Amino acid sequence: MKSESVFRVAKAILLSAMLALGISLPASASGEDAQDQSHYQLSFDADTPRQVRVEGQVTVIGQRLRMFLYGQPFLENGWATWVEDLQASTTDGTPVEARLREGGWGSWDIDVPDGTRVNLSYTVNLTQDEYDWDSVGGQDGRPTWSNGAFYGVTRAFFIYSDHDEQMTVQIDRPDSWRMASPWLRLPGADNLYAVPNLDSLVSNALVLGDFDLLSTENGPMRIELALDRQLSEYGEEFLEVLDTLLDEYARIYGETPDTNYVVAIRAADEHDGEAFYSSFNMVIMPEQLGGPRIAWAGVLGHELFHLWNGANFLRGEDKSAVEWFTEGFTEYYSSLSLMRTGLIDQATYFRKLEYYLARYFITTHRWPEERLSLVEAGQDKQHNWLFVYGGGSTMALALDLDIRQRTQGARGLDDVMHLLMDRFGRMDRTLAVRDILDAVNEISGADYTDFFDAYIRGSEAFLDIAPYLAHVGVRSDRSSEEYYLTRSPASMDTPSGELFDQWLGLERAE
Ligand SMILES: [Zn+2]
Repeated sequence: MKSESVFRVAKAILLSAMLALGISLPASASGEDAQDQSHYQLSFDADTPRQVRVEGQVTVIGQRLRMFLYGQPFLENGWATWVEDLQASTTDGTPVEARLREGGWGSWDIDVPDGTRVNLSYTVNLTQDEYDWDSVGGQDGRPTWSNGAFYGVTRAFFIYSDHDEQMTVQIDRPDSWRMASPWLRLPGADNLYAVPNLDSLVSNALVLGDFDLLSTENGPMRIELALDRQLSEYGEEFLEVLDTLLDEYARIYGETPDTNYVVAIRAADEHDGEAFYSSFNMVIMPEQLGGPRIAWAGVLGHELFHLWNGANFLRGEDKSAVEWFTEGFTEYYSSLSLMRTGLIDQATYFRKLEYYLARYFITTHRWPEERLSLVEAGQDKQHNWLFVYGGGSTMALALDLDIRQRTQGARGLDDVMHLLMDRFGRMDRTLAVRDILDAVNEISGADYTDFFDAYIRGSEAFLDIAPYLAHVGVRSDRSSEEYYLTRSPASMDTPSGELFDQWLGLERAE
């Protein structure tokens, strides 16, 4: 249940460093000269499906070429572990040496002046699924073959130089192979795709081979569902859940974005997901699909919500400082949206809330372990995930109910998300903890500085959820870390009963 985004921040840092040094950007780096845009060609061959040939033209900045740093199991050469036969030359055909850096996590030194265009050619071995990925969040983030299809993660394919720009990618594949791509196909070309920026290039799912390809549209958003053959019979149900949730997310944020989006679902031995820039991967246990929907729909709703929160629009200026928000609020909205749209019932929803509260309780009561604040916990999200997710979703719940109570139902957390989307997401601006506090204050008309200082920025206080749940007539009983939520019958015909219906979207159903 992860998301990644690094480049907008990296770009801002790089640009300011260059300005400070008096270095001006070549035209290509500012994205103005289309002829100098980076271009890649991937060639897949049915006879050697585990190898892809790549030809690229890139502009070198800082005498360095590299692959994406993250999302691989901390191998010495990073994603370059799977790269073979890298050849580089300048545009007039003069060979240039690209030397793999020792301890460079998959980067190369290349001695050419800034702004030099180089041609690259190399082979990528698609054998990542021979490696264990548990140390970096699990197999959902690993390129993997399953039942005749390659569920790729695009960072496996591309060597680039550190500057953001629009790019094009040509993908040649055997006629019998299908493909699901988050990139927009350029008109007049069969297999040429426009890539809007570096994040989109290296942080996306790309599926090729034999799989079920389903599609739907929601407003201006186009969704392709790439489904493992082993899961064929559930395709329509997945699409229905996706569409229903998109309607609800569009209601919260005002609209779905004008974007191509890929949902890749494959069979595995666990339920998990990883969100990318405009796509997500999900792994699912086929034998459990007949059971309660919440077991997989929670993951699906979570990854889909990341399109807005965490992976694409709302992103942290310092990513780790807002993990409690990008993960915790995403988790809160995933199950709340399933409840509001009738995809799960109230009893199931209460169980989800009880799990969040239990995670928060357990991770704040582990004596003698030193307590961290939610903001600090994001620095080691892998280790602190129970706290980041449980604590973050508990904060979302408390703030949502408190804003509703304070504004007598006129406003809620949905309005905070919408405001943040308008102010940051749609403006391509990153946000900080302070910005989330400001939005909560603005929507509620109150001051939540003490709340943030105590429970989000501070590490000592523990938030008792009972008074917040009481706003909507829900009783919370706790025994150690076990929470039991019940709706008090006496509250139903009172203002708190009305707030309850509004919170869970029950008045919409009437
Ligand atoms: Zn997540």
